[in-house]
Amino acid sequence: MPDAPGDLAPTASSHLDHDSLRVLGDALARLDAGFAALPPAPPAAQDAAAADVLAEVADRLRDNFPYFHPLYAGQMLKPPHPVARAAYALAMWVNPNNHALDGGRASSAMEKEAVSQLAAMFGWREHLGHLAGGGTMANLEALWVAGLERGGAVLASELAHYTHARVCGVLGLPFEPVPADDRGRMDPGALEARLARGGVGTVVATVGVTANGAVDPLDRILALRERHGFRVHVDAAYGGYFTLARDLGPGARRAFDALHGADSIVVDPHKHGLQPYGCGCVLFRDPSVGRHYRHDSPYTYFTSGDLHLGEISLECSRPGAAAVALWATQRLLPPVPGGAFARGLESGRKAALELHRRLAADPRFLPAFEPELDIVVWAVRGAAASDCSRLARATFEAAARRDLHLALAAIPARFLGLERAGIAADASAVTCLRSVLMKPEHLDWLDGICGRLSAAADEALAG
Ligand SMILES: *Cc1c(COP(=O)(O)O)cnc(C)c1O
Repeated sequence: MPDAPGDLAPTASSHLDHDSLRVLGDALARLDAGFAALPPAPPAAQDAAAADVLAEVADRLRDNFPYFHPLYAGQMLKPPHPVARAAYALAMWVNPNNHALDGGRASSAMEKEAVSQLAAMFGWREHLGHLAGGGTMANLEALWVAGLERGGAVLASELAHYTHARVCGVLGLPFEPVPADDRGRMDPGALEARLARGGVGTVVATVGVTANGAVDPLDRILALRERHGFRVHVDAAYGGYFTLARDLGPGARRAFDALHGADSIVVDPHKHGLQPYGCGCVLFRDPSVGRHYRHDSPYTYFTSGDLHLGEISLECSRPGAAAVALWATQRLLPPVPGGAFARGLESGRKAALELHRRLAADPRFLPAFEPELDIVVWAVRGAAASDCSRLARATFEAAARRDLHLALAAIPARFLGLERAGIAADASAVTCLRSVLMKPEHLDWLDGICGRLSAAADEALAG
């Protein structure tokens, strides 16, 4: 062990927030006081061995990329807000279960309030919805309801999240990909041609593609619904919160403004909503779909006639702490246009546009299309597609040696316009660098990011 436990106080070089521990201590005392009338049942003293185990855990956890640092600009990983972390931890002393009101009265009420705020963000005053383990579970639930309401095939863009095909397999629904246009958005012409052949029950629009931030043209998909009659589910697990941003391009803005017309929406508070993992959300526009969940559990619903969240959720036990953390975060940072939270999203998008601009001006790089949200994807130029892939991997590693952590993504060659760039197309996909600039601080760190990237690319190209 490099340091004796207990000798390490936060210092000027601390990167992790220690402050919220003090705030948490005060809040814990306040929570404790609420139960003061109970007969004494003092908690067991801390086992000294637990401190050793925790020190070992801390050492083990050092083996991670520094996701919390602005130079981590790779995958879709955003640190939870300190208030979310503290609220989640505080709730752990009670450990409520939001399956039923018996298991978590306060946290169930907080879940309903927090979820209503998310529904309002999409323009819904009425809705049925709840939190889920994540986007995959939330999408599963939306497609389960879609299958019961409509049946038929489920269509999604070829760039939709890979879990849709798998979830449809679980649900026994046929799944078909729809081609994307050269900017990575579902091609409405291809969709219309498929609809004309019949048998489609549901179209999944991805509002914020995980790989590249493309936004499917939801407004045009909804117009096709008028003529062909199908259900529209919107997978906004990553992108949903961008509806609050005021600086979107016109195509993306039209798609976000159409969100209220969807039949169901999934958004992941654990992606862009500053939450710890284990927090997705599914929303239905028509509350009457609640009838599909009807069941008659003899042992969970005793305490009141109020709605138990377990009556409208596929999962049974769920962490009340996730709801408490989301409620606390939205209390501090309401999800409204122009608020501090929305400005954070705008800042990340500004960083993405600026990084894209600098890459486009640099002869060593070939960026894919201009970012619609906060994801930038670019190739490192080589003589042929396979050279580009090799150079991207080398740049990725050279950047990591300089503490800049990017991601890699295999992108179909047609999104890069290789021919125009004079690059031989000897492969159908090109490994590119990918950066999700989802922290508000990324904008201030852009020079630091670009400087390290430039040095890393020079090393890769020389090697
Ligand atoms: C992340 C993501 C998912 C999957 O959500 P999890 O929370 O990882 O289960 C689904 N769809 C999209 C668009 C995503 O970005």
